[in-house]
Amino acid sequence: MCGIFAVSGRPDAAELTQLGLFALQHRGQESAGIVSVAKDGAFRARVRMGLVSEVFGDGEAAALEGRVAIGHVRYATTGASQLANAQPLVYKTGHGPVAVAHNGNLTNALGLKKKLEGRGAIFQSSTDSEVIVHLLARQEGPIEDALIASLRQLEGAYSLLLLTPQKTIAVRDPYGFRPLILGRLGSTHVFSSETSGLTLIGAEPVRELEPGEMVIVEGGKLRSLKPLPAAPAPARCVFEQVYFARPDSVIFGRGVQAARRDLGRALAREMEGVKADVVVPVPDSGVAAALGFSEASGIPFEMGLVRSHYVSRTFIKPTQELREKAALLKLAPVPEALRGRRVILIDDSIVRGTTSKRICGSLRAAGAREIHMGVTSPPIVSPCYYGIDTPRASELVANAHAPGEIRRFLGVDGLHHLSLSGMLRAVGKGDESGWCTACFTRRYPTPIPDYQVAEAVK
Ligand code: SF4
Repeated sequence: MCGIFAVSGRPDAAELTQLGLFALQHRGQESAGIVSVAKDGAFRARVRMGLVSEVFGDGEAAALEGRVAIGHVRYATTGASQLANAQPLVYKTGHGPVAVAHNGNLTNALGLKKKLEGRGAIFQSSTDSEVIVHLLARQEGPIEDALIASLRQLEGAYSLLLLTPQKTIAVRDPYGFRPLILGRLGSTHVFSSETSGLTLIGAEPVRELEPGEMVIVEGGKLRSLKPLPAAPAPARCVFEQVYFARPDSVIFGRGVQAARRDLGRALAREMEGVKADVVVPVPDSGVAAALGFSEASGIPFEMGLVRSHYVSRTFIKPTQELREKAALLKLAPVPEALRGRRVILIDDSIVRGTTSKRICGSLRAAGAREIHMGVTSPPIVSPCYYGIDTPRASELVANAHAPGEIRRFLGVDGLHHLSLSGMLRAVGKGDESGWCTACFTRRYPTPIPDYQVAEAVK
């Protein structure tokens, strides 16, 4: 998964972009980068591995001169975690220099790459995003026409920023898998994956780009086009609301925190009859849902788990024993909140099940009498090919095991998943249409890569 951000029309564009990337850091922690356009029309770029604070820790963003900048934070979903894959990608093309920042996964990238290589293209990275640049470089005409011709060949998910010395172009794929918001800061145009990035720099959200919309900013003026064939229906990623986006963001027309509270309320209604003394969230993403659950059920809310935000990513764990201790460092039970109590533990999802098992084990060790796990999404049975990092189907616990087996594996007294309709009603205020639910239903809105079909349905 990734986060993208752009500022067009201020002398401190790169510094504002850095702030925007800070607010999007949860969308990717492996690399960060900003490209700006200096007065002479040349790009200034800093793209490195690491967190935004590590890459731009010593005023490096201020050194990127120019009134226009785009930025990117990356978590690898295709292509390894390495500098060559860090974005924005910068290339010299027949159209002049271009920089690209991409959020989402292209499902036909491999086939396109093979064709391009057959025609002599030399790829510098293993990311799917580079395919877009090679397609673009082979098209003629103005850059937006070249981009449109390239995008028409793509399948899958893309919220995209493209920078040239003259233009900033933002585009969202026809299904609208990933969010992309247009904002304004005075006369400056801003784009962000989530509204949290706009809020941080004092920009007002104007609106979300529509699925299939392209917005071009040139000379301070904004143009909107709908140049791509419409999808049969939008397929916004429901997982953004359930887990991925920041709670203070508004995406897909809905406040994320409010949506998660409603997910908790919906789960409480579906778990009516389960007797418990406390509702405990898995922090941080389970907190709003647990509050909603507590309100709807009348069962008291307790912070029975505490997350440490200070565990270093580079903390070395040479032995299994140390690895387990490191997990406890990150998420520690509060014995007084748990001892002798019947606990409803609220989490947003179960992927492999190993983290949930470890958490439940620590609650038991802290004295919890019963554990009923409540999950605010249906079982994940199939991988995501649109930009969320889920493992292969065979590693998804709900794909490989029956509910009773999973309950025993987790060591819980009860396991309850929110129903699909309950989830969609909660995130969409009653509107169940227009969502991608493929990881829960195996109903993929686009063709998925051939070599992955067998794995997905296994
Ligand atoms: S498959 Fe799941 S995670 Fe991926 S886009 Fe669809 S709903 Fe989101």
